Amino acid sequence: MPGLRLEGKNAIVTGAAGGIGLETTILFLREGASVVMADISEPALEKAVAKAKEAAPEMVGKIKTAKCDVSKEDNIKALVDSVDEWGGVDIMFNNAGIMHADDADAVDTPEKIWDMTQNINVKGVWFGSKHAVLSLRKHNKKKGSIINTASVVALVGAATPQLAYTASKGAVLAMTRELAIVHAREGFRFNALCPAPLNTPLLQDWLGDDQAKRHRREVHFPTGRFGEAIEQAQAVLFLASDEASFVNGSDFVVDGGMTKAYVTPEGPALAAPS
Ligand code: NAD
Repeated sequence: MPGLRLEGKNAIVTGAAGGIGLETTILFLREGASVVMADISEPALEKAVAKAKEAAPEMVGKIKTAKCDVSKEDNIKALVDSVDEWGGVDIMFNNAGIMHADDADAVDTPEKIWDMTQNINVKGVWFGSKHAVLSLRKHNKKKGSIINTASVVALVGAATPQLAYTASKGAVLAMTRELAIVHAREGFRFNALCPAPLNTPLLQDWLGDDQAKRHRREVHFPTGRFGEAIEQAQAVLFLASDEASFVNGSDFVVDGGMTKAYVTPEGPALAAPS
């Protein structure tokens, strides 16, 4: 099928059973890539792969799943090596991440939550980047695209204290910049996706029917709404594709303008929903 944006490419998506990971998997499949969906949760993966197959019945590439804990290097190595049979990885989306409910401020964040968050969010991205580079070299690839999921909290301070998460996403951003520079001459591009808070089931549960609570958060978006996972996936597809051949080392911010906004009391963004 001519004209597909990722035809013939092999991709790995971590956190593939979650919101951004699943939407990205579906777009990758529709654009001709073969995809390994990796996640720590096998039951969630089972449901996600069924959804992906249903949403992309026209897929031309292959699809498989892998149970993987990104904080364990042997898991990541096995995951990346599993793509050898397809000819090696071209696109690595290091997307798995957690924000623990007990994450708090400098005083109250438990050390074990700090360590768990850094292990998954930071070490997971390091291991994913490392083994993607090793695979690209092993298969003599002249180009590759690695996308690491950070967050807007790597760019602006969060008022809700979540210190371990914020520190981890800052590390993802810094690490991605250095990787982008170090591997640029090999043709390997590294970019960091910086999503703003999304309209997820978790968020909806947390907000409940409290319209005022929702509105207090929505005013920070010039668009007056939260983003959707598909809007992150569309950006990842671009970064993964050859259309982004000169996009390297970027903080790719997908936030509806949130991090550029100065919310004033007189601004239209503060108008209450009718
Ligand atoms: P999600 O919770 O829907 O998905 C995350 C997935 O990662 C889950 O399926 C989970 O099982 C998996 N996972 C957790 N720990 C893992 C591990 N150790 N190894 C492998 N998989 C693991 O969340 P999402 O919204 O799709 O988030 C994806 C990424 O986007 C995360 O890195 C998150 O920090 C980031 N992000 C999310 C938002 C948001 O509002 N949802 C905003 C900014 C950044």
